[in-house]
Amino acid sequence: MSHLSDLKRFYKQAEALDASKLRNSNSTTPLTFAVERDNRRVFIVAHPADFWFHFNEKLPEEKCAYEVIIQHKDGAPCLLYLDLEFRIDLNENSNGPRMTKTLIDIICVYIKNYWGIICNEANVLNLDSTRDKKFSRHVIFRIKNTAFMNNMQVGRFIKIICADIEEYLTADGCAFHNILSYFKREHLEELIVETGKKRKLFIDTGVYTKNRQFRIYKATKWGKLSHLRLAEENKYMPIEELKNKELGIFLESLISYFPDKKKLVFLEINENFKIDACKYTQYNQKKQLQKYPSDQNKESLYPVIDKFILDLVHPGTIRAIKFFEQSQTITYEIVGNRYCANIGRPHKSNNVYWVADLKYRCVYQKCHDQDDCPNFKSKATPFPCEINFLLNDEDDDLFFDIPETLENQSVSTNTNKSF
Ligand SMILES: [Zn+2]
Repeated sequence: MSHLSDLKRFYKQAEALDASKLRNSNSTTPLTFAVERDNRRVFIVAHPADFWFHFNEKLPEEKCAYEVIIQHKDGAPCLLYLDLEFRIDLNENSNGPRMTKTLIDIICVYIKNYWGIICNEANVLNLDSTRDKKFSRHVIFRIKNTAFMNNMQVGRFIKIICADIEEYLTADGCAFHNILSYFKREHLEELIVETGKKRKLFIDTGVYTKNRQFRIYKATKWGKLSHLRLAEENKYMPIEELKNKELGIFLESLISYFPDKKKLVFLEINENFKIDACKYTQYNQKKQLQKYPSDQNKESLYPVIDKFILDLVHPGTIRAIKFFEQSQTITYEIVGNRYCANIGRPHKSNNVYWVADLKYRCVYQKCHDQDDCPNFKSKATPFPCEINFLLNDEDDDLFFDIPETLENQSVSTNTNKSF
């Protein structure tokens, strides 16, 4: 049986994408692939399995193909994918496989934290095309029946994580982050590489643009013989075992291939999430931001204490939380309420903060105003009994109990969306 008749060729991407939409029905799921030929890209619309057989007939140096990841606002489901790279000559001491593992572990905790979904390395295809000069990986998270709405959302999610890591690393040593603080600092620092121009994370955040072309499994860049293959540390467990193993890996490595879209659960990130953060940055003074870089630590490991503080400072809110292990205290930076017990009224320009003391089981207010209230410490308010009760009950595990949910994020289980 010839599969070639099922491949439709186009010389313009837009025409290929139109054709793929026309052919998309419940029974067939064509994708658009870009193929390099004689230094130009040709677009092929085909069912992935058909395309795979066509692709495999090529000579190794001609195996140069990309999946076109389309982007629609109203839905073009795709997997979480990462493009990781760094120049080996500029980063001789960097351990790429270990960095990749650290990043996968971090993302797994974020996924659990945002959407309550448990995943690990067995859900992650780890593809390698490292050459002498360049470390290069494609990492693809495939969690059964789970997808992002489109690759823009994936980009938003990855950029949030990147910003968190960068902020966390530039903060002083005692900054607390409800995810990153559980990772060894040297493992986080290792994720930053030298590019020749500047130091940055080894994550390429430019791969989430519209109709992005992403190299497929077993493909090489033109003339490079650097085929994407399974990384040595790959621990992916295929969701569906096919007789043709290579075809199975190929199908599961595709970012936008979902034969059964009706079962998909979408991981969504509130559109305002980042916009809010930006407004917030403009609103705050730079000095403060350097001192308390993360605006996301609005939850400590003790939600009951957070709630207690929130009630005390109403209508103010918590801007940042820091945990000091040695003194067993948590500080809460407050915005929206500058009432200071020392002067008996709100300050005009300085914010106040509250401290929860886990050892002495009390909270008290302190002040950023160095002129009027240096070293001021308000009268302590003891923890209410429900907090004491929790503290009495706690064991060490409490410190590793990462909160299930954050505000502004939700799992959508809308299965009626059509594409
Ligand atoms: Zn004061």
